[in-house]
Amino acid sequence: MNLRKTILLTALVVIGLGLTGCKKKEQPVPSSPANPKAAASTATTVEQTTCPVMDGNPINKKVFVEYKGKKVYFCCADCKAVFEKDPEKYIAKLPQFAK
Ligand SMILES: [Zn+2]
Repeated sequence: MNLRKTILLTALVVIGLGLTGCKKKEQPVPSSPANPKAAASTATTVEQTTCPVMDGNPINKKVFVEYKGKKVYFCCADCKAVFEKDPEKYIAKLPQFAK
């Protein structure tokens, strides 16, 4: 009998915790559906931030080339020239060609 009571109490506590847990989870839910949207929007407008040639160098938005219909940015004109010699070598590093 005592065991049953304990099990019941435990069950109630678990259910109670589960409910409060759900309520707590429901608050961030509005941001959760926004996440796939954010992911989708980032998928369409992938931000390239680093130069694929000079790995890790921040890009200069004035230095870019269009490759396969997508803009590829570089940190300097030299990198652009290097990229154009062998684009396939560098597109693997570019988020806009990730898919
Ligand atoms: Zn460069």
